[in-house]
Amino acid sequence: MIGIEILKGRCTSCGLCLSECPFGAIIMDGDVVAITDACTLCGACQEGCPSKAILFERKTVSREDVSEYKGILVYAEQSRKVTYELLGEARRLADKLGCNVSAVLIGKDLQGEAQELISFGADVVFAADNPSLALFNDEIHAHILTELIRQHKPEIVLIGATIYGRSIAPRVSARLDTGLTADCTLLDIEDGTGVLLQTRPAFGGNLMATIVCRERRPQMATVRPGILKPLPVDVARQGTVVFMEVKFPKSVRTKVVDVFLVALGDVNLGEAEVVVAVGKGIGSQDNMSLAEDLAKVLGGVVGASRAVVDAGWIEYSRQIGQTGKTVAPKLYIACGLSGAVQHTAGMVNAETIVAINKDPDAPIFKIAHVGIVGDVRHVLPEITKLIKEKKA
Ligand SMILES: Cc1cc2nc3c(=O)[nH]c(=O)nc-3n(C[C@H](O)[C@H](O)[C@H](O)COP(=O)(O)OP(=O)(O)OC[C@H]3O[C@@H](n4cnc5c(N)ncnc54)[C@H](O)[C@@H]3O)c2cc1C
Ligand code: SF4
Ligand code: SF4
Repeated sequence: MIGIEILKGRCTSCGLCLSECPFGAIIMDGDVVAITDACTLCGACQEGCPSKAILFERKTVSREDVSEYKGILVYAEQSRKVTYELLGEARRLADKLGCNVSAVLIGKDLQGEAQELISFGADVVFAADNPSLALFNDEIHAHILTELIRQHKPEIVLIGATIYGRSIAPRVSARLDTGLTADCTLLDIEDGTGVLLQTRPAFGGNLMATIVCRERRPQMATVRPGILKPLPVDVARQGTVVFMEVKFPKSVRTKVVDVFLVALGDVNLGEAEVVVAVGKGIGSQDNMSLAEDLAKVLGGVVGASRAVVDAGWIEYSRQIGQTGKTVAPKLYIACGLSGAVQHTAGMVNAETIVAINKDPDAPIFKIAHVGIVGDVRHVLPEITKLIKEKKA
């Protein structure tokens, strides 16, 4: 845990720190300096104080506390592919650590699904099964997950970096006073220490940072969907399902009345086997139909770079990359797309990458398995025509 304090005996009320704080969290109350709730504990003000009056306190736990934690816990989202991906990775990490994999499933009528989690790699499934849990509520899920972690003390907790996971993971880590690495793309175990190595893009995707949490437990990470590989399903796998006594939080501020899917046509970008991704090189919104035609003959879906989304040629839900969706299709066709790191962060795990670009030095060719140098507006209709002829 970390805290900030103004040392009254040292502070001269010079006010210099007020302008140092990027969050406007330092105020002058008369001639007394105070820190408000807006403080994010970023630390920027400390260096700026000439009187060394700003103190950060860090509390650590001993190695002994850390050693009480064992096993890997996966937060299982109902009927979502990311859960199976996390279980596969948890299994791999657990085999290195020599520990168990458990999963927590929260919802209604969970018996069948709990069994499925076992066939994808869980040894134990904790099921919080209650009719009132039919609809996702982040406050309740965060409470149940926090209490389960307090009781069972897993050393690692893995959560999908989905809208659900992103909503509950920070709440849980804050309640447990532990670290959370969001949006990991790679996980591993450090030789010798058994500490979780959590790798994620940093500085706008220009660097890959490996983050460790040595002093607190559990080590918590969210992982982007579509990056890790699930294990092959094994229906004969044995495991234990533990139906938990569900304890609801004392007060819940949010009431979930209904959940409905926003109609996005037939698009399921994250799970598509073929993605035709459009970049700014397509030239105009009218030309988007060239990509749609190709996607149609291949049974795929159209995705896009941020530049295309920003131009308003397609909706944000189709954006692929660091600030969009992550995809890992069998075939990825990049059409007039430069291949900026922020884009490739969301598609680099595609099995086969075909790139069409008029610039032979475009970065996308560095990761493409097949490259076509040419004008995408001419190449796309040609490919579509050839495939149609082949299919006829
Ligand atoms: C914090 C941050 C987050 C970001 N997140 C994302 C993200 O999630 N996803 C994302 O995609 N981007 C993201 N970006 C933006 C990213 O950096 C690039 O600007 C963007 O991906 C470029 O899109 P583009 O390749 O379509 O366009 P451009 O960079 O304009 O490239 C167009 C390409 O098309 C080629 N071309 C032009 N005309 C033709 C033609 N007629 N035929 C064939 N080729 C042609 C050009 O040679 C060029 O390579 C992010 C940026 C930042 C700073
Ligand atoms: S730690 Fe950061 S947010 Fe908090 S008062 Fe200092 S500068 Fe502002
Ligand atoms: S810079 Fe230091 S001495 Fe000056 S007001 Fe802020 S805390 Fe006090």
